Amino acid sequence: MTVLELDERLRALRGAAAETAPELRALAPALDAAPHDLKPHLGAAAFDLIRRCTTPQRFGGDPLRVGRFAFSAGSSLETLVWMLELAHGDAGMVLAAPGPNLAGLLVDQLGDEQQQEYFYRAVADRGAWTFFAVTEPDRGSDAGAMESKLERAAPERGDPELHLLHGTKKYIGNGARGALGVVFARTGSGPLSIRAALVDAAAPGFAAQELDMVGLRGAALGEIRFTGVPVPQERLLARHLPPTRRGLWGAVRVFNTVRPQVAALAVGTGLAFVDLVRAGRPHAPGLEAVAGRLEACRQLVYQAGAALDLDRDDGRLSSAAKIAAVAAAREAGRWAVRSLGPAALAEQPLLEKWTRDMGAFEFMEGTSDIQRLHVARSLVRARGRSGGRP
Ligand SMILES: Cc1cc2nc3c(=O)[nH]c(=O)nc-3n(C[C@H](O)[C@H](O)[C@H](O)COP(=O)(O)OP(=O)(O)OC[C@H]3O[C@@H](n4cnc5c(N)ncnc54)[C@H](O)[C@@H]3O)c2cc1C
Repeated sequence: MTVLELDERLRALRGAAAETAPELRALAPALDAAPHDLKPHLGAAAFDLIRRCTTPQRFGGDPLRVGRFAFSAGSSLETLVWMLELAHGDAGMVLAAPGPNLAGLLVDQLGDEQQQEYFYRAVADRGAWTFFAVTEPDRGSDAGAMESKLERAAPERGDPELHLLHGTKKYIGNGARGALGVVFARTGSGPLSIRAALVDAAAPGFAAQELDMVGLRGAALGEIRFTGVPVPQERLLARHLPPTRRGLWGAVRVFNTVRPQVAALAVGTGLAFVDLVRAGRPHAPGLEAVAGRLEACRQLVYQAGAALDLDRDDGRLSSAAKIAAVAAAREAGRWAVRSLGPAALAEQPLLEKWTRDMGAFEFMEGTSDIQRLHVARSLVRARGRSGGRP
């Protein structure tokens, strides 16, 4: 595999993101102590960068300008470049930023023009957080077995196309602070009956509560209960697409896109551990090896982004990047504690916090077991297409 060198434009974006990362790191302990009090952080330059780099210009987005370059909602590679730099500041702060996030990616895949306009305008006008709700209390990795339902409303409601949403979603980022988001549920029993709906948190029958988290508290996981939440036809995504493209197909594309993002968050956190050791014990054994392994993962993350920009259905490198980055970052954390000594966990709040944060990356967008299954299936499929040749 040839090394992917960032061009001048992406190097400019990387530099701009790196400049805002120290502020995120300075704010991180306060967010960890009070993850639901975001007012003190809303003015962070990195939050402004995230907003500009995730809102499409055609829906009122105001691009980020760096020298002669402009950036708005961009390619996967572009997103990974700024995200990794910001996570080098603090990954929890990155996840705490308001904006379209995962829900935006799904709306891009499955929303028609009117739905995209509704979603992006609502997020921009309200400065809102959004949620992307797939996981259920006993249905994590096996998303296809979800039980939440979209049932047709009784005829006396007067709208033959109206659905009512019932069910519970758990471990949902921004679950309790999101103003709107997307929710997956089934209209029947088969795999093609899973649909995604745009849901407003102010709708009747919507109730959410925060979950107490040990690490990555900026992600603000929540549990959401839906008790007959009305979903009018214009809020059902993918109504303009054929049945095979309506539900989990869109989710899989979002997962493919987000896995290298989680990898980027993990690599950024790993590099943050390296900073702590470099500052406290510049000649610690293993320093160059740990830093080198993380840089190799950065390269894999970029390669995964570039591959997605060519084919959003091919998630093999996305899964590989996530497996490698989560393992490298976890090892960097253990090495940092060994290098600085266990007392450093008490003396350096960020070392202790990032050690807690590290556990979450394993679960976000599928565990390493699930990623290995994806890689294996993709290799088997590729071998089948090539007639068995390796
Ligand atoms: C920080 C964070 C943010 C999250 N944000 C969101 C969000 O915004 N929206 C959302 O919908 N969900 C979100 N999640 C939930 C996440 O997607 C789930 O935690 C994940 O899918 C795993 O599901 P589970 O926790 O139920 O574990 P399980 O699926 O119960 O897995 C438990 C263990 O069994 C193993 N396992 C399961 N199935 C297999 C198999 N077939 N083969 C081999 N091993 C297997 C797993 O590897 C794991 O070790 C978030 C989670 C975290 C930690």
